[in-house]
Amino acid sequence: MLKSAHVQITPYYQALLDSLGPDHPLRRTVVPSGDCVPAPGELADPLGEEAHCPVPGLVHTYPDKVLLFATLRCAVYCRYCTRGRLVGSSDRKPSADVFRYLEMHSEIRDVLISGGDPFMLSDTDLSELFSSVRKIRHIRTVRLGSKVPAVLPSRVTPELAAILSKYRIWLQLHFIHPAELTGETTRACGTLADAGVPMVSQTVLLKGINDDAETLAELFYGLLERRVKPYYLFQCDPVFGSSGFRTPVEKGLQILRELQGRVSGLALPHYCIDAPGGGGKITLLPDSPLCRDGDEIVLKNYEGREYRYPDPEKGGPAVLESITY
Ligand SMILES: *Cc1c(COP(=O)(O)O)cnc(C)c1O
Repeated sequence: MLKSAHVQITPYYQALLDSLGPDHPLRRTVVPSGDCVPAPGELADPLGEEAHCPVPGLVHTYPDKVLLFATLRCAVYCRYCTRGRLVGSSDRKPSADVFRYLEMHSEIRDVLISGGDPFMLSDTDLSELFSSVRKIRHIRTVRLGSKVPAVLPSRVTPELAAILSKYRIWLQLHFIHPAELTGETTRACGTLADAGVPMVSQTVLLKGINDDAETLAELFYGLLERRVKPYYLFQCDPVFGSSGFRTPVEKGLQILRELQGRVSGLALPHYCIDAPGGGGKITLLPDSPLCRDGDEIVLKNYEGREYRYPDPEKGGPAVLESITY
């Protein structure tokens, strides 16, 4: 089963892929290929988001922050998408129930607007959304996650940057490869940074695409040069058909070991696994001892609860062994 039946590539990103040649690994991240066979441990909703939806369009996993789906559309559909089960399906705007929930829950201080890609909305719709969220006094931080600067940089206009600046929005951008840092993307980041919009980036560690220290160091330095701070490096979530994209966790740790101390500390993101089953993000450090049970890595989240990530390549006997690297 495929994670997402939806295929869409912007003319801009298609031209980039064409200029990189037919064998460039970025192509595989957006063009379906035959390697999407289901593997053990894969799920339609690996982060257990459905179980943490108090109202449709809102995910409340952590005590003081929420994820708000502004749209289910994207400019480009990634083959490794965590939300392949949802994206591209019929669109829905955040309902009045979403804002009522935010108002009623004064413990929520941080709203992450995501989807889908919120930059698929018009400037007018975005302004309205930001204005509604900003009216809620206990909300301190508003962030927006987008891959648009990488796949549709012409969407980033001075008008859009002014709206983000007016509502004091933090941006969390999605970049996976230094080849994405084109002249047009550089211009888009410049427009945003010059308007005073703070930016961080999130990268998914992808097998054969960016799973080596040299490629990632180039990406992270390139982002810093464009005033984007690398924030998270994610272990790929075990969505259906993702096995061709997933690297062993040990490989991620090895890359971190290679980068730590050798690159600017500002260039180093947190390496993290979003715990299957809804445990939230769990950060691993280069010297984290990995606890393995057969084909699974056993993790503890911020509450001390146990979660398991399928990691078959280092599979062994089904006994709990603690490996310290
Ligand atoms: C990632 C995520 C957040 C934000 O987490 P940070 O670690 O603060 O960036 C909030 N809610 C959900 C459900 C998330 O998946």
